[in-house]
Amino acid sequence: MRRLVPILISIAVLCGCSAARHARSAPAPLIGISAAGTDASRVGQAYIDAVCAAGGVPVIIPILTDSLAVAAILDKVDGVVMIGGEDIDPDFYGEAALPEMGEINARRDTFDLMLARMTVRSRKPLLGICRGLQAVNVAFGGSLWQDIPSQIPDSPICHRVNGPESPFHDVYIKEVSRLAELTASGLTSVNSYHHQAAKDVAKGFVVSATAADGVVEAMERFEGKERVLCVQFHPEKMFAEGDRRFLPLFEWLIAESRK
Ligand code: MN
Repeated sequence: MRRLVPILISIAVLCGCSAARHARSAPAPLIGISAAGTDASRVGQAYIDAVCAAGGVPVIIPILTDSLAVAAILDKVDGVVMIGGEDIDPDFYGEAALPEMGEINARRDTFDLMLARMTVRSRKPLLGICRGLQAVNVAFGGSLWQDIPSQIPDSPICHRVNGPESPFHDVYIKEVSRLAELTASGLTSVNSYHHQAAKDVAKGFVVSATAADGVVEAMERFEGKERVLCVQFHPEKMFAEGDRRFLPLFEWLIAESRK
């Protein structure tokens, strides 16, 4: 171990991770980030940078379908981020696919649903982002809008990119919520890159933010030692673009991961 410590510190410094630079004083929490991909397990750099900026040390959890392997990784990490990606197969919530449904990734569905359940069962904190929110909702018995534009046609909100600009829309954050404690309650704006969303919210979860069309933009679960925060928007991308308003979501995850 004595030999390992300087090596670990050098690796951390090379990675430019601010938290790891303080590794001598307090060990920075290891944050597992669920991978995306089909022929590779990838994590977007913005997620990695946000975890580092909040004081965590990111590690990629590759797409796995072996629950023992997932359990072994979960045993080593202190907290988990689940990231964005493809649509989830509606078979998991008992619906037939609509023609408007997008691409699915069967291996990733298996992985994400398993990771969501196992993380909550392990009592480790979980931050779900975009597909991460949807995977958590489905994993705990909820369902999804398969395609907001066709299923909520009178929605005045554009949740998905259809031009060169990053789309933003207003959301209302409920006053009595962990999300409000971390950021601010009331009206604010968030980015939006999704055409699916939580429909029936899984039992045990509370909706903490909605858009004007009623679409769930955040949900959370705090029961005993279960700590789950999920958002439909992309705080990591906002941070990458210089908007720090939702960095506290990552800071929450790192603070909880120290407990
Ligand atoms: Mn949205």
